[in-house]
Amino acid sequence: MKLAALVLVAACGSTPPSIPAQAERRPIVDSHVHLTYYPVDAELAAAGVLYAVELGAPDRALEEPTALRGLLRSGAMLTRPGGYPLDAWGADGYGVGCADAACVTARIAILADKRVRVVKLALDDDGLDPALVPIAVRAAHARGMKVAVHALSAASTDLAARAGVDVLAHTPVETLSDETVERWKNGAVVTTLAAFGGSQETIDNLRRLRASGATVLYGTDLGNVREAGPSSSEISLMKQAGLDDAAIEAAMTTVPLQYWGFVNN
Ligand SMILES: [Zn+2]
Repeated sequence: MKLAALVLVAACGSTPPSIPAQAERRPIVDSHVHLTYYPVDAELAAAGVLYAVELGAPDRALEEPTALRGLLRSGAMLTRPGGYPLDAWGADGYGVGCADAACVTARIAILADKRVRVVKLALDDDGLDPALVPIAVRAAHARGMKVAVHALSAASTDLAARAGVDVLAHTPVETLSDETVERWKNGAVVTTLAAFGGSQETIDNLRRLRASGATVLYGTDLGNVREAGPSSSEISLMKQAGLDDAAIEAAMTTVPLQYWGFVNN
């Protein structure tokens, strides 16, 4: 998330869309939250969002209790020394800066030892050195962890695919090439359309990634946006990207439950 977007974007049209009926009855999964930054887990759970993935929080929060039924936490993001999010909203432990391979592999080992199941890498200009991305991915996969990236640019999105990254933490905002979209066909993308204003480029990227075969996971970047429940803005923008009610329901419930390995009980 970016500080500049610390408002709920009023991205929906004149009629607020309703949550698809099935999704209301099933536990909802938000695949991108910052509940340490914005601690509204009780409100989320009360609104039916019972599972979430926290993509970026200080390691000290890894063991904190939660009102949710399931919460996967990535710990602090791996970035360059002083890079994003340390240079923005996350100065207080939300990132760990690495400048060489030894630091990267040591960092991954620390997270693996803490039983973290998803690692988050910050890419783009103020993120991890591109040369270190494949090293981080190999180390994480060797320990059975998924890798998520903050990659908003077309170049970073392509780099992530080539390095074998599993999941885009955001739909990229810069128009992707056809080759990059194709490289993501076996990957996953967390929507977060409303968090970045729901531009046509972003909506088109989600549509194209989905058409290529990429797995779509509903996610809001909660903390950046402040809608502590199923986000009508996000759902409206997912519809604009071509998802019908059944596809939205799947992206909010069954698909992420399985993707992240949550046991629904
Ligand atoms: Zn975020």
